[in-house]
Parts: sequence; structure tokens; C-alpha cells
Amino acid sequence: MHIESLPSEFQKALPILTTIVEAGYEAYFVGGSVRDMLLGKAIHDVDIATSAYPSEIKALFEKTVDTGIEHGTVMVLDHGAGYEITTFRTESGYTDYRRPDEVIFVRDLREDLKRRDFTINALAMNKTGEIIDLFDGLLDLDKKVIKAVGNPSERFHEDALRMMRAIRFSAQLDFVIEDKTLLAINKEAPLLEKIAIERINVEFTKMLMGQAAAKGLFAFTKTGLYKYLPNINIERELDLVAAGLALKHKQLMTPAVAWTFLIVQLGLDDKRAKLFLKQWKHGNDLINMVTSANHFIRLYKRQTMVTNWDLYQLGNNVAIVNAVLAVIMEDFDENELNKRYDMLTIKTKRELAITGAALIKSGVVKPGPLMGKILLQLEQAVVAKTLDNNAAKLLAQAQVIVEGESK
Ligand code: ATP
Ligand code: MG
Repeated sequence: MHIESLPSEFQKALPILTTIVEAGYEAYFVGGSVRDMLLGKAIHDVDIATSAYPSEIKALFEKTVDTGIEHGTVMVLDHGAGYEITTFRTESGYTDYRRPDEVIFVRDLREDLKRRDFTINALAMNKTGEIIDLFDGLLDLDKKVIKAVGNPSERFHEDALRMMRAIRFSAQLDFVIEDKTLLAINKEAPLLEKIAIERINVEFTKMLMGQAAAKGLFAFTKTGLYKYLPNINIERELDLVAAGLALKHKQLMTPAVAWTFLIVQLGLDDKRAKLFLKQWKHGNDLINMVTSANHFIRLYKRQTMVTNWDLYQLGNNVAIVNAVLAVIMEDFDENELNKRYDMLTIKTKRELAITGAALIKSGVVKPGPLMGKILLQLEQAVVAKTLDNNAAKLLAQAQVIVEGESK
């Protein structure tokens, strides 16, 4: 196959390929960018593979950074853009099921493509737009199939993360996993326990956000791989199936929306949700957003009548709540919560017409726990609209509270 007009992402990198080729080496675009171009999808990073050794690449370009020199990757900086250039390599010995014991640089493209995970990720393209397809990746792209390069069981033994990647690509691209590859996931599923949770998390998040996430979730239950996900056991099978059913034809657009959706489906309360997300090694920002949205959704589902104070505490996370409720509730009106949120008198504590400093200055209260208590009561009253957000009125109310306290 020959690509007539290369997308601009490749055009920009062409001078780099030309420099390498003119120096007598081979160089190709490889992996995800070639796959995504052929699928007509947005192209992320353009990766380059070459027969030149890292030292030879560094000799050819003025500005390079050793981003992963031990596995043969050098970044070439060119007019503000950075391109990862990786020497063709083979990998040998995977005694820990996740990292090759040794990386060997080779001069042969075939060897490099052979170590790649799936046929659709093992395509290369030279600088004239010729596609090099040594493992029938083009056929599998056409058939919409995820198929391991070589023997799938062996490949999952080398690197168990590939089982997650198979399901993730199937969800992202809406492809089916080829039978033998699927059977091998079923058989080798326990190997997933060898993989770092952070890496499992990256693939699982991409799977949840895929256009065909339902397919991904069903693949997890069908193969039994779900049992080896952090903090998800056999009792969760039906929850995952239900999640898949709820997601049919719907897409979760951000990681926070995806994880809130999952936690709601698993029915976790505040405490358990937090623990669950921690065990999945999420960062604090995501944990805070998701637990806040989950807390609100649990209230909403129970009573449908949530208070202004609930909305106020939810804050910006109202967008996450809307996105998740739109997936899980039949005729959910996305405007309803937005309208109520927009009508809140204040959205943050900073908008309160009085500060702790002003309270102290007025002599109403001294610094200490009582001051915090007063501010909270004022904040709640303003949000509930039982008190105007007006400095004089707030001060008068503070006085009333202080007097009540001293009785
Ligand atoms: P994405 O759009 O998610 O970046 P990608 O295909 O570019 O998809 P990367 O993780 O960026 O995926 O990897 C780039 C390429 O490296 C892949 O296309 C594949 O050829 C190879 N690769 C990545 N991870 C593995 C792995 N665990 N085993 C074998 N090959 C891999
Ligand atoms: Mg990539």
C-alpha cells in the first residue's frame, strides 16, 4: 500500500527521516501513528524507528535528549517539536512477565516489528509513504481485529500488560479480539498480578473512555481478566456487565467521568470509593473529584431533591455528575442541575461578603474554633438563601451566633 499525501504530522517529521536515510541508515514511522492515519483518526505522537544506533542518531542531529537511551530511544528536537527515535531492537528473556531482561539493538526492521504487541501496531511507513506490512496488519485493520503478533500466550508471558492493551484497543477502536488472542487472555489472566497497578490503571482508564467501552467491559468478564484487576473480585462480575449494558452507544469523555461512572456502578459509599481509588493508585485530584461527584450522585439517586448546600459542595464537579447521570438515567435533564448551580448565590467561600479577618477586626470574635464555626454557619445560611450575602447583615448574624454561644 502506498499513501499519496501524508498527513501534516508526518510531513513535519520528514526532514528527520531524510537526514537519517541520507546518512545510510533505514528509518520508518511506526506504531500508533501509522495505525491511526490508516483509520482516519487523529494522530498523537509520531514515533520513528531506525537501524541507526543511538550514538549514530546523536551524531546526526544537533539537539537531542536521552529520553530512554537504555532501550534505544533518543529524542530529536526540531523547530520546537520533539520526535522519539528508537533503534530497531529485539527483547529477550522476560523472567518477571513485564520487562525484558535484555534489549538488543538490531539492524533489521522485521525483528523490531516482531516484538510489537498487535498486528495493527506492527505497521511501518517509509518516507515515501510506502506501508511495510509484515504481519498482515492491514488485513486486520480492515477486518477490525486485534490479533497478537506471533503466539499470543507467549507474548502475554513476555509482558502481561499486553492483555490489558488488547482489551483497551478493542474498546478504543471498536475492534473485536481475535479468537486465539482472546483465549490466551483467558488462559494467562493470572499473570496480570505481576503488573504494576499504575500501568494497569493507564490501560483501564483508556478502555473506559473508549467509544466501545461496553465491548471492553464484556471482554473483561468473558475472559475472567477482571478478577485480577486491583480490588475487583468475582462478586463484581454482574456489576461490570451492568456497567457495559449502561454504556452501550455512550462514551465517557474524561478520566474523572469514567471513574465516577465505575464507582457508581459498583455502588461504593464515600469511604469505600476513596479506598478503591487509592488502591488503584489514582492521584489526589482525581480522587477528590470522583468522590465528590459520587457522594452527590448517591444523594441524588436516593432522594432526587438535593439541597443548594449539596450543590455548593459539589462545585465544578457538577459537570462530572451531569455526564454520569446522562449515562445511567433514562431521561435525565442535563440542564436541571446546571440551572440550579448557576443560581447559587455564591459558588465559593471567597465570595462570602465577610472574611475571618473582618470578623476579628470588628471585635465580634477572637481567632479560634468559634470563628470557623461562625463562618461555616454564615456560608450555609447564604447558600440556603436564608441570609443575604451582605457584609452588614452577615456581621449582625455573627453577633447573634456569638451571643447564642455564650448563653
Ligand atoms: P496510543 O494511541 O495509545 O499512544 P500506541 O499504539 O501509540 O497507542 P503506545 O503505548 O504509545 O501505543 O506504544 C507505541 C507502539 O509501541 C505500539 O503501537 C506498539 O507497536 C509498541 N508497544 C507499546 N507497548 C507495547 C507492549 N507492551 N508490547 C509490545 N509492543 C508495544
Ligand atoms: Mg503512542
